[in-house]
Amino acid sequence: MFRKTKIRLVSMYTLIFFCILSILGVSLYFYMYRTSFSSIDEKLSEKAQVFKHNDLDDIKEKNERESERRVSYLFWGNNSVLLKSYPENAFFQKDIVHLSPIHHQRMLRTQSIEGHSYRILTIKTNNRSLNNEHVKLIQLVYNIEPEVSMLNNLLIMIGFGSAGGLVLSFFVGLILANRALVPIQRSWEKQSQFVADASHELRTPLSVIQTHLELLFRHPANTIEQESETIFKSLSEVKRINKLVEELLTLARSDSNEKLINPAIFPIDELIQLIIEQFEPIASMKNITIEGKVDKGIFYMGDKERIHQLFVILLDNALKFTSSGGILIITCKKEINSLKITIEDSGIGISSEDLPHIFDRFFRSDKGRRRSEGGTGLGLSIAKWIVDAHHGNISVESKVEKGTKFIIKLPIKDGFK
Ligand code: ADP
Repeated sequence: MFRKTKIRLVSMYTLIFFCILSILGVSLYFYMYRTSFSSIDEKLSEKAQVFKHNDLDDIKEKNERESERRVSYLFWGNNSVLLKSYPENAFFQKDIVHLSPIHHQRMLRTQSIEGHSYRILTIKTNNRSLNNEHVKLIQLVYNIEPEVSMLNNLLIMIGFGSAGGLVLSFFVGLILANRALVPIQRSWEKQSQFVADASHELRTPLSVIQTHLELLFRHPANTIEQESETIFKSLSEVKRINKLVEELLTLARSDSNEKLINPAIFPIDELIQLIIEQFEPIASMKNITIEGKVDKGIFYMGDKERIHQLFVILLDNALKFTSSGGILIITCKKEINSLKITIEDSGIGISSEDLPHIFDRFFRSDKGRRRSEGGTGLGLSIAKWIVDAHHGNISVESKVEKGTKFIIKLPIKDGFK
């Protein structure tokens, strides 16, 4: 599944690294090339200055005093006849032909003769005399062997470096691709599990509905009243599917980072009081007492609808898992920078093995029993998402047969997702 993506990522990373290394190598080569040649050209033009102010006959002496023997001077007369060269045996006769200005128009050039490289500056002299002969052009021939061999070595090093860089880039690309894929793979597996669980959860009520509808067809003459039990059971399953789809939709949207929180300031104490009042009739039917210990006048900036949904999930669970004669205590206190809300029941409690999993999607401690209660196992996942989206924290303490307490902390000043 991820093979293709991995190959694509590795190729991309390798290419990017290789390009970066190559660009660095090429830039380094051109930088060295330019600095070497510009310093040679500077030296050549410095030496050319000598001819402006001195008699050409003095050049020999000056040349002899040159500490650096890398420059040779060629004096050309009319018709490109070589009059003199300093040092005298600087070039073989056969090489002189290649240097003749008759073949070259440019004043500054690089020339290779018999595998040796030279930088040549040609200057015009206006027929100044040397040993009673008219000099037309002077060539300053700079031996650039050291620079050229340094640049060649650099090029070889860059070549090897790039080849090594390619291999290195491949391994670095492989490591990076593996790292980049881990979270994607994990979330893909989570999503696949989510879809599989959701399909499984939907299949059960759907097959129950199908069975009941088929039952109705067995007695086509029966009245609705006679089949009311079958119809009622089908309707309950339809309601269950509805609830499940709604919860799945909420979680799917939360996964896709869709903006589902619309913050506004509201009195949270009044909201809690209202929810308590809504749950009281159901609680009294089950002979359960609800006690509210809520501080007055607490304003909270958050999504009122979602906070309402959070309390409904937690109170619904508390009522479901508390038997007759039990008690439910809801508290809400303002602390320094946060709100502390607790929902405590005296119900069946949660075992220590189940406790770490209760916020997992589709988790139900006792699947058989829960199904009769109509639970989907998604309520607490949604509750946790709501608290997280408000930058808060939800935790749980529970003892089997003693009761369960959910503790929610909501920051008052923080921003919202
Ligand atoms: P459900 O829709 O099944 O209630 P939840 O995600 O809300 O799904 O809860 C997951 C499980 O956590 C429940 O099946 C139950 O086992 C356990 N649970 C949640 N709240 C309580 C509670 N107040 N008392 C005991 N167990 C609880």
